[in-house]
Amino acid sequence: MTKLAGIFFACISMVAFAQEPVQKPDVPVEKWTKKTIMLIGAHADDDALSHGTLALLQAHGNQVYVVTLTTGNVGTQDPKLSRTQLAEIRRKEELAALAELGIPGEHYINLGYDDGLLEFEDRKAVVENLVRWIRKLRPDVLMAWDPGKNYQRWHKSDHRAAAYLSADAARAAMWRLLFEGQITQEGLHEYMVPEYLLYNDYDHNDENTWVDISDYVEKKVNAFSHYASQYGPGWKNYNPNPSEVDIKQMKDYARDHIQMKNGEPVEGFRYYKGLPDALGK
Ligand SMILES: [Zn+2]
Repeated sequence: MTKLAGIFFACISMVAFAQEPVQKPDVPVEKWTKKTIMLIGAHADDDALSHGTLALLQAHGNQVYVVTLTTGNVGTQDPKLSRTQLAEIRRKEELAALAELGIPGEHYINLGYDDGLLEFEDRKAVVENLVRWIRKLRPDVLMAWDPGKNYQRWHKSDHRAAAYLSADAARAAMWRLLFEGQITQEGLHEYMVPEYLLYNDYDHNDENTWVDISDYVEKKVNAFSHYASQYGPGWKNYNPNPSEVDIKQMKDYARDHIQMKNGEPVEGFRYYKGLPDALGK
């Protein structure tokens, strides 16, 4: 590279950098109040990644809703459970977990898709379904699986599908002429989600916002202990009444997986504010 080309490249890089500042909420998440928060997940327990934050938001006078796309009717290694039984168990566990966080049962919405096959559903129908809920709830903040900032992120299939379906629904919800029957016949209105907290279960590189969950660790741990069909011995041999030892094992697992930053327990997110079109920028 010539010296002139080098200077040119440096200038271009600086312009590119200047156009993409790291986003941060104007008001720290710990101080949010009176907001409507909508979390979209693929399975009952996807929201567990954010349980400390959801407990905090609920305690601070926000309205928290959890929308789960699938019934979770596949994820077991217990040969005795049927799909119908598992779906019922997962619903019960999720309601118990949310109750620990103070989130009322009527704020849990399950859209009833089959576990493990979300990306093979009719995408238009799923997006339409999510758009309807976005237009109904009109969330100030949408929480969802992070589809990735700099490149397409690989998630396991339902999480990958949920990431893109959520982003696509957020984008579609703002256009009056998309799914316009919801507006002309159902009394809903187009809506643009202004802020996002995007979560991720193993790659923390894109995170720009960490919520201090120090006061909500116990609620997070207690909520997690209700997922007896997904963790601990119940994954292979479900017991509706797990022993004290089994419950302790699940609580220890939850505690061991809490993210730490500067010595404090946190939950990390990629915060984004702006047009949904630029969610990945
Ligand atoms: Zn999941």
